[in-house]
Amino acid sequence: MSVLDDLAAALPADVVVTDPDIIEPYRFDRAETVVPGRPIAVVRARCTADVQAAVRVAAAHRVPIVPRGAGTGLSGGSAAIDGGITLSTERMRDIEIDPVAMVAVVGPGLLNAEVKTAARAHGLWYPPDPSSFEICSIGGNMATNAGGLCCVKYGVTTDYVLGLEVVLADGTVVRLGGRTIKDVTGYDLKRLFVGSEGTLGIITSATLRLRPLPPPASTVVATFADVVDAGRAVTTVMGRLRPAALELMDRTSVRAVEARLRMGLDGSCGALLLGRSDAGGAQSSAEAAVIEAACTDAGATYVAATDDEDEGEQLMTARRMAIPCVEQLGTVLIDDVGVPIPRIPDLITAVERVAADTATTIAVIGHAGDGNFHPLVVFDRHDPAATERAERAFGAVMDAALALGGTITGEHGVGTLKRGWLGPQLGPEVQALTARIKQALDPLGILNPGKAV
Ligand SMILES: Cc1cc2nc3c(=O)[nH]c(=O)nc-3n(C[C@H](O)[C@H](O)[C@H](O)COP(=O)(O)OP(=O)(O)OC[C@H]3O[C@@H](n4cnc5c(N)ncnc54)[C@H](O)[C@@H]3O)c2cc1C
Repeated sequence: MSVLDDLAAALPADVVVTDPDIIEPYRFDRAETVVPGRPIAVVRARCTADVQAAVRVAAAHRVPIVPRGAGTGLSGGSAAIDGGITLSTERMRDIEIDPVAMVAVVGPGLLNAEVKTAARAHGLWYPPDPSSFEICSIGGNMATNAGGLCCVKYGVTTDYVLGLEVVLADGTVVRLGGRTIKDVTGYDLKRLFVGSEGTLGIITSATLRLRPLPPPASTVVATFADVVDAGRAVTTVMGRLRPAALELMDRTSVRAVEARLRMGLDGSCGALLLGRSDAGGAQSSAEAAVIEAACTDAGATYVAATDDEDEGEQLMTARRMAIPCVEQLGTVLIDDVGVPIPRIPDLITAVERVAADTATTIAVIGHAGDGNFHPLVVFDRHDPAATERAERAFGAVMDAALALGGTITGEHGVGTLKRGWLGPQLGPEVQALTARIKQALDPLGILNPGKAV
């Protein structure tokens, strides 16, 4: 029997998609430069049993199976593989909120924003907030260990995962962790799956920790003539307090956002910094004042604070929209480097040097309080020379981060885009250990091969 025959025998007709027109949008994620393959079928699983069935067929035929959430990944992680099966979780949308235990049990196909909305109905909050929170899935967030804007104070996805249900490469289902806040029984295997980019198992349910909603935030906005000054302000702020967000946009990204959204942002500034405090009441004002002072001391050309929630949200929306707005300028190769906080000014200087050396435009945005930056290399993909320069710039930024004691990816994952830099960051011993873990969990190598590791 063929792969398609076996899928048809194991799953209902409406779960297995083979029409090339319907398959087409399932081939890509948002890494524009990754060329995806053509899957033999897309399985739109409704439940854990569907996932098990698809994995068993993939294992029997030794064909790749690519888990897919909403396809907003920026590293090629859910890009389809030739002749493989793409396993979409978009229909796995169960949700149960336990307001007393303050947990949510969610299907992987729910959008991050939907989990937030459901929690809010109980006065609760699911903090991890990638800029893409309205369009990305919780399963994708688990698999990439997504970060976001409030992570500087509240932590990243893995900090909110209490339990996981995972389908392994042979179709076995395992349930890891549970609803307890503390649990040190055995190895913390759920953390192994968080951030594993679909290469170790397929997440079919997650138990997430919720928090009480924070008070409304005060927002500080500051502009700088020089982006390195903004980097110095970030270092000072982080030495003094833990803001609820601390986000940076350089001139190119400010201009790109202003061109599209017309918000009245100052396109002549070298950089814009957004800081937030949600400590509440007088404490928020005190923290906002610390952020303002740090910006002024670093040479800000303009500093203002607002307690108006709508105004603050508008400014954060400007930051969240930065990637799509910069994408209006051309094809974008998105770096995702991280450095220790004191090295932020050095990283920004290094990126400027890379842009000059390679004659490329690099817009810089970042979750500055985490030392996590997205230098966006903009180029014309139809111009081979420009493409070659952009690829060089993309790699040189990662090299610079590594030279500063940093990482090649803070939250977007390795996918296919950054695999070439795994060796320089991890070294041979850690790569060998990683390969042993992969071999133990996926001996046939069917789970998202060629990605992440
Ligand atoms: C405009 C924009 C802004 C963004 N901002 C941020 C940001 O601030 N922070 C951030 O972290 N990311 C950000 N991202 C990247 C992206 O949204 C995240 O990586 C997100 O977590 C991906 O979710 P997804 O559902 O789209 O996953 P997909 O792209 O579908 O998949 C991502 C990876 O997860 C795997 N996967 C998906 N579902 C499962 C599952 N159930 N089990 C196992 N593996 C699975 C896939 O195989 C793939 O390797 C941004 C993206 C865009 C387009």
